[in-house]
Amino acid sequence: MNHVVVTSVRRVYDDCCTLHMDCDCCEDAVHRNAESSSPVVWEVCGYIEVEGPGTQPTAQEEFCYRAPAVVLATGTFAIPNALRVPGEARPFVLHSVAELDSRICSGELNELSDPVVIVGAGLSAADAILRARADNISVAHVFRRSGRDSLSIYRQLPPDMYPEYDAVYQLMCSDVIGAVEGYTSYPNAVVIDFTSNNEVLLRCYGIEGDVVIRASFAVVLIGSRPNLSFLQGDELEVGVIPGVAVDGKHNPVDVDPWTYQSHRHPGLYAVGPLVGDSFVRFLRGGALGVTSHLWQQREKQLSGAEVRLETNRPEVELTRL
Ligand SMILES: Cc1cc2nc3c(=O)[nH]c(=O)nc-3n(C[C@H](O)[C@H](O)[C@H](O)COP(=O)(O)OP(=O)(O)OC[C@H]3O[C@@H](n4cnc5c(N)ncnc54)[C@H](O)[C@@H]3O)c2cc1C
Repeated sequence: MNHVVVTSVRRVYDDCCTLHMDCDCCEDAVHRNAESSSPVVWEVCGYIEVEGPGTQPTAQEEFCYRAPAVVLATGTFAIPNALRVPGEARPFVLHSVAELDSRICSGELNELSDPVVIVGAGLSAADAILRARADNISVAHVFRRSGRDSLSIYRQLPPDMYPEYDAVYQLMCSDVIGAVEGYTSYPNAVVIDFTSNNEVLLRCYGIEGDVVIRASFAVVLIGSRPNLSFLQGDELEVGVIPGVAVDGKHNPVDVDPWTYQSHRHPGLYAVGPLVGDSFVRFLRGGALGVTSHLWQQREKQLSGAEVRLETNRPEVELTRL
């Protein structure tokens, strides 16, 4: 669904009491709940933005679903990382390819502009470089390591499958300044300031003094993290390292590698970059893992129900999915 924002995901008894997602507390609560026989479910609430008629403003329509299982598939791109250097809040400093795209589409940034400074050496930085070059906009590319760095993401991608990213990798490896028209790389460099004159100040390894680039815009693309605040304070408890915010690279959601179910929160699943699967082709594995586990749980549940019918036991079992 488009224009849907999830604002809260929490465990509740089916009779409306909220459970805290802390593990020990959960176990305890589940046992207590088994006695009262109300199933524990996930409650997912949020709103849908609905276009008003004509010039009317958009309205928000709230929703709230309850389900035995919930799958997190929010990706990890919601909150861009910041360099945390002086001047980063200036209007010429952007933090997403979408913002760059909108400046180009509006004509604010064009081939006559000063170079756009792109900071970072990941796929987003590559997309920004490709976007700018598609409109003949000069690029000054700043990154922390060498172009041929063995940890570079581009070296992990087969060039025939990702020719665009390979083209960016080739640019980064061109050591001669000015060798490629409209592209200059600044390897082994860190940004130290974004000045009020639209300048980007760099400290480059092996170069004495600061390097100054006069920029039209600077785009900082140095990774991002997910926004799991809808877990209402428990977002710090779902990662591999408890107490630390989830991020796809260093602290993915802690799931079983076969079922993709959270180790600590039964019924909560996560797929995609949230669990470190950072390419589209890995998503199918996650989706299949979740589906297969849910199916097995259902089969177990059904066979349990059959046994109960056969033995004519009147008890109601709590199902933890
Ligand atoms: C620049 C870049 C280039 C890439 N290039 C490639 C490539 O060439 N090949 C490849 O295989 N992979 C590539 N990837 C990786 C690929 O994009 C991801 O693996 C894939 O998008 C993950 O899919 P996903 O559905 O898990 O998350 P996403 O595609 O990130 O989708 C998450 C969705 O969740 C929504 N969402 C988040 N929070 C909420 C909320 N609170 N309420 C409602 N909705 C919410 C978001 O709006 C978004 O629609 C690239 C990634 C980047 C950043």
